[in-house]
Amino acid sequence: MTDLYRVLPEEMDDLVIKLGQPKYRSEQLLRALYHESPRKMSDLHQIPGAMRDSLIAAGYTIGSEDEVHRVVSEDGHTTKLLLKFDEQTLIETVLMQYGPSQDKTHPRSTVCVSTQVGCPMGCVFCATGQMGFEKNLKAEEIISQVLHFARILRQRGEHVTNLVFMGMGEPLANYDEMVRAVRLLTHPRAFGLGQRSITISTVGVISGIDRLADEDLQVKLAISLHAPNDELRKRLVPTAGPHSVEDLISAAKRYFKKTGRRVTFEYALIDGINDSTKVAAELAQVLKGNGAHVNLIPMNPTAGGFNRPARKKVLAFQQILRNGDVNCTVRVEKGAEISAACGQLRTDMVENIR
Ligand code: SAH
Ligand code: SF4
Repeated sequence: MTDLYRVLPEEMDDLVIKLGQPKYRSEQLLRALYHESPRKMSDLHQIPGAMRDSLIAAGYTIGSEDEVHRVVSEDGHTTKLLLKFDEQTLIETVLMQYGPSQDKTHPRSTVCVSTQVGCPMGCVFCATGQMGFEKNLKAEEIISQVLHFARILRQRGEHVTNLVFMGMGEPLANYDEMVRAVRLLTHPRAFGLGQRSITISTVGVISGIDRLADEDLQVKLAISLHAPNDELRKRLVPTAGPHSVEDLISAAKRYFKKTGRRVTFEYALIDGINDSTKVAAELAQVLKGNGAHVNLIPMNPTAGGFNRPARKKVLAFQQILRNGDVNCTVRVEKGAEISAACGQLRTDMVENIR
């Protein structure tokens, strides 16, 4: 069985020809899939019944997700969904909306997608890392998260404007399916999102960073650094082993050189662990002079017993980086009260609502 939501436009062209259909059917099929987002074959009304039958006979299908649970933040700007593809595939995905304008629509609606069920990287402060690794998602399962929100937004006259690969899992550890999803989501004949509206966040899979730099994609890259030296970083990211901080910074430089796009370093600030003025100065030293941008993410509560530093400490850390000529912003957090913020996504404790 092949899901139609994983078929690239060029592959769709070949497919309709193989099925003995006129070429324009490919366009029709793509338009139906990405503008109306049917959830099953029988909803593909735009396509003649005979063609639907031949698609089914050739082993094509439209798999769909079930929305098992929905939580909306008090201000209505953040929505977390629990989606189920099959018994083994239960993931969380989040919509973050920013600044409603005069007409009450949101100029920016960002979907935070998951790429894996659980995560093999085991970061000690991350709820997903702590649930362990279960499986990689397929491209169609990544796309379904975006289409699910697109359907919800369409009813309100809004649409998905941005995408961040910052949900459950490590996107570069599921490289091929992640890139296939990006191609479909950005292809003008498929979902058509701007490549520059997409950010891929990685804990630092260096081979993946180098591969991504060689793709003809204009996506933004963020590397989760969390520490200026290897000793501290290995305490936080136990699987960092073979990749040193220096290796990561070199990989970021190569990415910039190849693509012309600067990498952002994410830094989860954890009280008493990696937030001292000494560590800030060391980080400034390490990053100085390469035009780096640091995005500080004050720790979101998870079960690990790590805490968020006081606001004063966050600002002091930021100031030291800025004084060292390192560009630094503090992430505006959304969704913490519904456990939908960075690092709070896990699905192994949801039996009660399945
Ligand atoms: N695996 C990828 C992408 C998903 S995590 C990565 O690690 O980059 C997205 C971001 O959330 C990462 O920067 C990660 O370090 C951060 N994060 C994880 N747990 C967090 C927590 N409890 N509080 C704040 N940020 C967290
Ligand atoms: Fe995986 Fe990213 Fe969480 Fe680390 S922070 S465990 S890489 S999802």
